[in-house]
Amino acid sequence: MASCIFCRLIADPTFEALYRDDDVIVFADLNPQAPVHLLVVPRKHFETISELDDDYLLGRIFAAAHHVARERGVAEGGYRLVFNQGPNAGQTVYHVHLHVLGGRQLTWPPG
Ligand code: AMP
Ligand code: ZN
Repeated sequence: MASCIFCRLIADPTFEALYRDDDVIVFADLNPQAPVHLLVVPRKHFETISELDDDYLLGRIFAAAHHVARERGVAEGGYRLVFNQGPNAGQTVYHVHLHVLGGRQLTWPPG
């Protein structure tokens, strides 16, 4: 999708991702909310997590999240995985992405 910012990043051969495989790409969030704040993004465009009906791809997204969490040193201390679904959750980019947040004590409930 030409109008989608994440599709454009995925299609850019010069874009320096932290991790990529056949199914997903991982990069740092532009506006980090924690010392480690990564986005795991499926290469295929789905607007929201509720529309992602591919169980294999869902598994790949979570596997990549755990992989980069280990790689970035937050696996042991703990981290949070978040999908924002729709306006009330504050979703701003309508290409599915899993937030990986770690490196500090995260509060609960979230804002
Ligand atoms: P959400 O509110 O769940 O839709 O999250 C969208 C996230 O994408 C926000 O945390 C933004 O900071 C982040 N973001 C938007 N554009 C970019 C970009 N070009 N590169 C990296 N992160 C981005
Ligand atoms: Zn897209």
